[in-house]
Amino acid sequence: MESQWRRFCADRWRRLGSRERRQLEQGLGVGDTLSVCVGELRSEDMAVLAQLSAQYSTQKDPRVELDFKQRGNALFKQKDYIQAVASYSKECLVDIERAQAHNYPHELLHKILARRTACLQHLGQADGASDLGSREKLGVTAVPRIQTKPTDRGAPCRQTKTSRILCNISPSIAVRSDSSRGRHFIATEELRPGQVLLQEEAFAAVLVPEGTRRELFPNEDVYCHHCLEQTELPVPCLTCSFSSYCSELCQECAWNQYHWLECSLGGLLLALGTFSQLALRTVLLAGLQQVEKAEKLESGAGQWPSGECSVRMNPDHRVELSSCSRTSGAGDEMPRDSQSRYQMIHSLLTHTKWQTPEHRFLCGLTTAAVCQEIRRMGLESQLVSEWLELDAVSVQGQGLRILGVALLRHLLQLGCNAQAITTFRDTGVGHSHVTEMEEVRIATAFYSTVSLLNHSCEPNTSITFHNTTITVRASQHIPAGQEVLHCYGPHLSRMAVRARQRALRLQYFFHCQCTACVREEGTVGMDSVLGQFLCSHCGMELQDSEEAHYTCPTSSCGLIISKQALFQQVKEVKGQIGVARHLSTQHPDEALRLLCECQQLAHTLLSNRHPLQGEIEDCLAQVYASQGNWLAAAQHLRKSKDLVQIRYGAQSVELGKELFKLAQILFNGHVVDEALTVTVQAENLLSLHCGAEHEMVIELREMKSCLRTLASQFAVSPNFNHKE
Ligand SMILES: [Zn+2]
Ligand SMILES: [Zn+2]
Ligand SMILES: [Zn+2]
Ligand SMILES: [Zn+2]
Repeated sequence: MESQWRRFCADRWRRLGSRERRQLEQGLGVGDTLSVCVGELRSEDMAVLAQLSAQYSTQKDPRVELDFKQRGNALFKQKDYIQAVASYSKECLVDIERAQAHNYPHELLHKILARRTACLQHLGQADGASDLGSREKLGVTAVPRIQTKPTDRGAPCRQTKTSRILCNISPSIAVRSDSSRGRHFIATEELRPGQVLLQEEAFAAVLVPEGTRRELFPNEDVYCHHCLEQTELPVPCLTCSFSSYCSELCQECAWNQYHWLECSLGGLLLALGTFSQLALRTVLLAGLQQVEKAEKLESGAGQWPSGECSVRMNPDHRVELSSCSRTSGAGDEMPRDSQSRYQMIHSLLTHTKWQTPEHRFLCGLTTAAVCQEIRRMGLESQLVSEWLELDAVSVQGQGLRILGVALLRHLLQLGCNAQAITTFRDTGVGHSHVTEMEEVRIATAFYSTVSLLNHSCEPNTSITFHNTTITVRASQHIPAGQEVLHCYGPHLSRMAVRARQRALRLQYFFHCQCTACVREEGTVGMDSVLGQFLCSHCGMELQDSEEAHYTCPTSSCGLIISKQALFQQVKEVKGQIGVARHLSTQHPDEALRLLCECQQLAHTLLSNRHPLQGEIEDCLAQVYASQGNWLAAAQHLRKSKDLVQIRYGAQSVELGKELFKLAQILFNGHVVDEALTVTVQAENLLSLHCGAEHEMVIELREMKSCLRTLASQFAVSPNFNHKE
């Protein structure tokens, strides 16, 4: 929920009448909660929301269209390893850098030009004009397609596009259910690291906009709003300026399935936040008929397996707090068709009992506002007539009610069941010859089967995404009979045991008893590794205490330092590293000066295992790389790599990313032997976590074959081998 709306609702909750407040505090069901909130929604609330929505204008702006051309050009990668081999051998390593800088990948250029032509033609046709250049007119002249009836909803376009599988479960794992863990997956035979266990397409996914947080290529301009495919030349929605797609096909599918309504609501959904949009899209994708059916089953009219039912109907059942389960489902077979997939989503726990009344009010008021806006805009009859296929007049009001209840249910579920879709993205900082990957969230999604995986702070799986498809792989050997676990967020290497358990309790309402938590409980856990502060008097590592300060263990010293003061200093160092990163290309000397200061401060403040030491080394490597000083860059990056290994472990994806970077720097620095070794290490590690077809792994393979060619060529050149 966007922060302004959330703040408004929090204030609204405080001003709520005592009767309504009491009602909500009693822990009403979804339907009754909605009734209370609908009764509470005032025209003043809608006025405030209208104001907030206006900040997210989705009106067409002609200037936006102009950008698309420039963007197409900027997305080239200035790298081509096959060309690099040619240059290496031609110029005998004399001027490789200059040669690389001029090697634009011609194949890519050709592809993009072809796509641009196709796109212009498409836009020309849509406009009905022969002038292909006048694309700006589109926004004004396009007739809003709200009038058109959604086409055959029985054939979702994503299936026609490619024969994608909605959900694919390895025969080596199986669903089990017991009272302490709920429904969960176990290995039915020994699983090997890297083995694919589960692949599932999101039931619904919504792109998370970055807005002004990223000036160049924010998510919303780079990824298709329907299928999340990365796109150089997006096809914009004909009506709004916000949504754009990878293809005409996606644009049409999105429009027919859900965007016809989302588009009319415009800034409202952006003001209410991604969860509201995802909840609404889930309902629209399922269709009201489907929703109504699931709702009837829920209220007892239909049949559920009795065991599952009692857990779901009785939130006091100890299973909820004592296990990591966040689901309950219907039936023993994994649903593969969209109908039963929706039923599974619908039956996910709402945790109504554990959520604060204030949170339930926020979700309820949000739902009431969406319904109110749909009614105000006169979209209700369309919603009802097209989906219930009944006499529109007789079911008006009823349709909106069904929509509202489902919407609120999904909003309540999302806190525990939303899955972030992440991708590794080029950070765009630093040198164009080194791709630095950062993991970013690009969307939020509902997965019905993946939701069955229980949490561990020390999971035995890794997840990756391709567009909206999630892939779960074993990240280690998993013996037969052991549970398959993934991490909901609080990971062993990033948070101390107390912080993890607190986060899991607040968001998922359970007390984590995973192997890592059991092992670390009663100890300070990661604090002893992450903390790592030094006494500024005697240099000893400070000891953690429950209080607001650290104490020096040296008896003759006994220094006491406030945690807040130390954290403030760490924050300042972090800030300075950030500034240095931005200066690295344009003002390397200034960046180096800043980093030197950071190093000095870190030296007196932090132990040499502290992650911040690694960040400084990493940044130094970046500055040297941006100057083409590959050997100096490699020297710093090796240190950073060692620290990443200490922190995340020798089998971690984080180490894989660091090795990927080191491999590129060594490659550019012509350190062929070491580059080859590191490339192979990185390839092994990353393909284990991300699969052999991941973009980083493909790049590493290309580098490897290039380096092998070089190694064989230079075997006859005695001058080259730097180690001799
Ligand atoms: Zn698409
Ligand atoms: Zn639109
Ligand atoms: Zn845990
Ligand atoms: Zn001391």
